Formats: sequence, C-alpha cells, structure tokens
Amino acid sequence: MKEDKLIKIKEKALEDYIPIIMDDTLIEIEKRMKLVKPIKILEIGTAVGYSAICFSKFLDNEGKIDTIERDGERAEEAKKNIKEMNLEEKINIYIGDAVEILPTLNEKYDMIFIDAAKGKYPFFLKQALRLLSQNGIIFADNILYKGYVMSDYNKHKQRTAVRNLREYIAETTENPDLETEILEVGDGLAVTKIKSKNPVH
Ligand code: SAH
Ligand code: MG
Repeated sequence: MKEDKLIKIKEKALEDYIPIIMDDTLIEIEKRMKLVKPIKILEIGTAVGYSAICFSKFLDNEGKIDTIERDGERAEEAKKNIKEMNLEEKINIYIGDAVEILPTLNEKYDMIFIDAAKGKYPFFLKQALRLLSQNGIIFADNILYKGYVMSDYNKHKQRTAVRNLREYIAETTENPDLETEILEVGDGLAVTKIKSKNPVH
C-alpha cells in the first residue's frame, strides 16, 4: 500500500470539503474486517475513493469492491486515485444514482458500506439486505447525523434526513432476524448482521 499517496488523497479530500470517513469510524470497520476478511464489498457513496481504498487493505486476496457514485466529477477523481494506488483490478466504480443501480445488482456481498444520501437510507437498507450474504455485515455511516437523530429538536432543513435515519435504526434494531449495534464513533455508525439461526441445544 502506498501510504504516502493515500495520505495525499485524504488531505486533498479534506481540503475540498469532501465528507470522507472519519478515522475512528474507519478503525471500528477495520477491526471487524480483520476478523472476517470480506471477499466482496459493496459501497454506496464513493466520493473520491478514499474509504474504498482503505477497505481494500483488508480484502481477501481474491476480493473485489463495487462502489457507486452519482457525482461524475467525484467519480472521475476516484478513478484517478484508484489507478494511482494500482487498485483498478480490485475496485470497480458504477457511476450513477444508487437508487437506480442497486436494483440491477444480483451478486452477494460480505460487507456493505452505506455512506450516501441520508434520505435514502431505508431504501439502501432494503437493497443491502437483499444483496447481503448470510454471514455478511452492513455498516451505515452518519447514522447519528451530528446528534440530530437522538435529539427532539429537529426544526431543521435536515428533517427528512433525520426521519429516514431514525427509520433505518428502527428497522435494523426491531427486526428479530437482525443484530444491530449503534456506535458513537465519527458521525455515528450502525453495524448490522443477520442473526445466526444455529439452534441452541
Ligand atoms: N465513502 C466516501 C465518502 C462518501 S460521501 C469516503 O468515506 O471516502 C457521500 C457520497 O455519496 C457523495 O460523493 C455523493 O455524491 C454520493 N451520493 C449521495 N447520494 C447518492 C446516490 N443516491 N447514489 C450515488 N451516490 C450518491
Ligand atoms: Mg460518511
């Protein structure tokens, strides 16, 4: 891994106000990736490729990442960054709206990282559950949205986002087939797995 190049990509993203994954959030995800090396990863929200490049370090040798970005300019920058890191074989970018692209996918993924339009999280969840392998894991970033999600005061323009993030939390925590942790790292990280069905004797 070309660490110096990765640092440059990170610094430029921060300078350009691109909301890349926060360090403590990344540490939590990487911890879990070390336990179960994912073979296929799906990311919703590439931006300039920073998080996908970070995840690629913990992929299985045969592993691949599909990532979706609707902003053409960002996707082009992501392509450039991925090429500079020699990861073109590992990371594939779909350019377009995830709302349209997700329903066309039919592979199973061991890890899904949701990090795009907050108002679409319930839709992304439905698609993620359809695409998740039995032992897979779903991470949803920004799930606590600067604390708005857990506070009563929501007379903000963020109201729709907050409503949808709450819906995501409700659906993942109340569904008896799922196991969800909400971690207070970064802007909030939801970690969801399918409950194992092994009967206990
Ligand atoms: N995962 C990146 C940061 C993503 S920022 C990292 O940590 O490095 C969120 C990105 O999601 C933005 O670039 C935005 O353009 C994209 N996005 C938002 N809604 C989307 C949608 N519906 N489909 C595809 N991309 C979307
Ligand atoms: Mg984010």
